[in-house]
Amino acid sequence: MSLGVSERAKHVKPSSTLAITDKAKQMKASGIDVVSFGAGEPDFPTPQNICDAAKKAIDDGFTKYTAASGIIELKEAICMKFKEFNGLEYEPRQIVISNGGKHSLTNIFTTIINPGEEVVIPAPYWLSYPEMVRLAGGVPKFVVCSKENNYKITAQQLAEACNHNTKAFVLNTPNNPTGMLYTKKELEEIAKVIIEKDIYCISDEMYENLVYTDEKPVSIASLGKDIYDRTITCSGMAKSYSMTGWRIGYTGSAPDVAKAMGSIQSHQTSNPNSIAQKAALEALVGPQDTVVAMRKEFSKRNDYMYSRVSAMPYVDMIKPSGAFYAFIDVSRTFDKSFNGKKINDVFVFADLLLNEFNCAVVPCSDFGFPTHIRLSYATSMENITKGMDRIEAFLNALK
Ligand code: PLP
Repeated sequence: MSLGVSERAKHVKPSSTLAITDKAKQMKASGIDVVSFGAGEPDFPTPQNICDAAKKAIDDGFTKYTAASGIIELKEAICMKFKEFNGLEYEPRQIVISNGGKHSLTNIFTTIINPGEEVVIPAPYWLSYPEMVRLAGGVPKFVVCSKENNYKITAQQLAEACNHNTKAFVLNTPNNPTGMLYTKKELEEIAKVIIEKDIYCISDEMYENLVYTDEKPVSIASLGKDIYDRTITCSGMAKSYSMTGWRIGYTGSAPDVAKAMGSIQSHQTSNPNSIAQKAALEALVGPQDTVVAMRKEFSKRNDYMYSRVSAMPYVDMIKPSGAFYAFIDVSRTFDKSFNGKKINDVFVFADLLLNEFNCAVVPCSDFGFPTHIRLSYATSMENITKGMDRIEAFLNALK
């Protein structure tokens, strides 16, 4: 036996999103005027009524351990939200409240996966899913989605990816990084496959409040009892309420899954922060006008980004329906050069843009799509305009 980190730990990849945003932060700290499109968090402050509820929780001495899977009032509020917003009937015993959406997802994978079981993940994907699956002992099975199908998996692709060892499928709508939204019809077809193959569906609906079209986001679990029984619906406070730092996420699932997740959580972390739970309660039951205002602003930025990118040479994007990311195809720059340096791949593209034009974007190799970059528009209009000008100048300088 010798010292050293476990095989499990050795294989976890550091986040490339953080690597580029860290580099941009360092440049900023040294006085360089960098525009960063990296961060995946709303740039708005947490609404005042939510902050006030947290202050009150402290003043009231609500600062001790709570029930490990969360307080009953918050579970009831989550059930109400599931019913009114998603058309889903869950009872409080089916709800587990965790330390952020990431923790909810980690709990899910730990709870349902046996060693070696496969989880189907459509690419492009949010970069944490594969690492979470591997940490839980599972094997990610990637399915590359076509640009022609708006980067969405088809029911046929899902069926073909399943085998006797498949345990679950990860659905993310509205999607990070693509901003795409699955329609009811697409979800009905996907649900049929999930039922036929008898696998779990992990439905990550973290961006459900941020939709900019007339389409209403559909929760796959609302499409009938058979799919409801097999779905674990996951959401959280971070993106909808600008509460990224508060760390509250939650799941609705079959009672046996919820019970097992609650037990695991009781040993690994205990309850999510008591004060943040009171804040989340206020977010759900209090006035929703700040959510509406944030959505409006994101929608304006979405329109602007799309119109700017559409007018640029060598790049294109499909207009997002939700979330706050522009997913841009830069593959037509790969045979071009800047000042004699050839753009071989998306990392060189992002590096040149950061080093030469002080603009940080996320190369999407770790999102399973190495021909694309992701730009978060969770930054001010002023920054977006400046950043777009820089990207355009870079593209115009390519030979
Ligand atoms: N799911 C998706 C698709 C995300 O983009 C994120 C955060 O970036 C999360 C889940 C986790 O959110 P949090 O842990 O901040 O609640």
